[in-house]
Amino acid sequence: PVVTRFAPSPTGYLHIGGARTALFNWLYARGRGGKFLLRIEDTDRARSTPEATAAILKGLDWLGLDHDGEVVSQAARADRHAEVARALLENGEAYKCFSTQEEIEAFREAARAEGRSTLFQSPWRDADPATHPDAPYAIRLKTPMEGETLIRDVVQGDVRIGNDQLDDMILLRSDRTPVYMLAVVVDDHDMGVTHVIRGDDHLNNAARQIGIYRAMGWDLPVYAHIPLIHGPDGKKLSKRHGAVGLEEYQVMGYPASGMRNYLARLGWSHGDDEVFTDAEAKEWFDLDGIGRSPARLDFKKLENVSGQHIAMAEDAALLHEIEAFLDAAGKNPLTSPQKDALMRAMYCLKDRAKTLPELIEKAHFALTETPIEPDEKAAKALDPVSRGILSELTPQLQNASWTRDDLEALTASFAEARDTKFGKLAGPLRAALAGRTATPSVFDMMLVLGRDETLARLKHAGQ
Ligand code: GLU
Repeated sequence: PVVTRFAPSPTGYLHIGGARTALFNWLYARGRGGKFLLRIEDTDRARSTPEATAAILKGLDWLGLDHDGEVVSQAARADRHAEVARALLENGEAYKCFSTQEEIEAFREAARAEGRSTLFQSPWRDADPATHPDAPYAIRLKTPMEGETLIRDVVQGDVRIGNDQLDDMILLRSDRTPVYMLAVVVDDHDMGVTHVIRGDDHLNNAARQIGIYRAMGWDLPVYAHIPLIHGPDGKKLSKRHGAVGLEEYQVMGYPASGMRNYLARLGWSHGDDEVFTDAEAKEWFDLDGIGRSPARLDFKKLENVSGQHIAMAEDAALLHEIEAFLDAAGKNPLTSPQKDALMRAMYCLKDRAKTLPELIEKAHFALTETPIEPDEKAAKALDPVSRGILSELTPQLQNASWTRDDLEALTASFAEARDTKFGKLAGPLRAALAGRTATPSVFDMMLVLGRDETLARLKHAGQ
């Protein structure tokens, strides 16, 4: 069975690149009946904060990437990491190194002066334990002197690193703290991780991590090191390109479903498919479809995907997205009548809104109580002549049967009788019903509002 994981370091916000890494792992596991685990790599005590962990959990929750089992804290497993370092000492794959920092520096300096490799070679590697001093020591991995380490990577292909390029890495420092590289391997092994999908900035670490797997006789996971995300200009993504934190995208009003779709396509492809459902993504996602070159962020494409997801979302799901958006953006939550009105209006709001704030703007007519105050543009549309027209139309609507056909026929004959086009009526009607000029169709608004509200608004505007 497939087991993947997301292993963020809680040192800031959830980066969009991290969110994509999490998504790939989630899709891979969910599409295969596997497990998706979450591990917080909080061993860097100085830089890790509980706030950052909370922000990561919140981001994953919003994006809908549910994990299996408990969240694992790497720091809490330090004893287990040390235990493995000791096991390696026992089986002869590691050794105690008593070299002090000064001695290591001196070694490097001499090597530099003589033009040799500055990779530290510990004199303790093959020392007889009988000669060991009673002093603090680090535990170092005995890396083979010859041969090479092969990283079989599904995305990058075979990457070979000569073992002469690798020093005998420290596993356990002289203060008894395990190093990060050991923690990752032990955790991945103990958590049963079968596939490590992560940014290719970790590719070099894989060579060292493989050394630990080999020394413990553990099975290697499948590695997939994915290229990082670049900005629209092809350079490594940074603040100057715009939003880099996932939360910023939520606040801009992209629905989570659209974000999942967009992020899935960022570096992975399935033929020409651009817009797809979660079910399709889970079914289609594989490691073969991950590209070798960095994907570029494309805000136009994101808007397009977002708009299509709004259009195809189920009403209840969309309402949920809107509520989450309002909360994230620090806006007032919807009241219960507003939720009802929004649900009734949803059918005429979903098309052509690229983001949730655009949809909410179109929903203004349904979310606002009568009497409605026109904005500046709408006020202009309600000039005296238009108000006169509205006050003539209103009584005629009084007895309409309030079906779309009836309302359309009635306004059409009203326009005809006055020798004007319906287009001339539409502006004032929008202004009267919504207090806005960009709205759903006049008839949709009338149907959603119902007879009483519609007439009340028309009367108010016609005064
Ligand atoms: N904690 C690492 C990071 O945040 C990820 C390590 C891994 O995936 O192996 O970049």
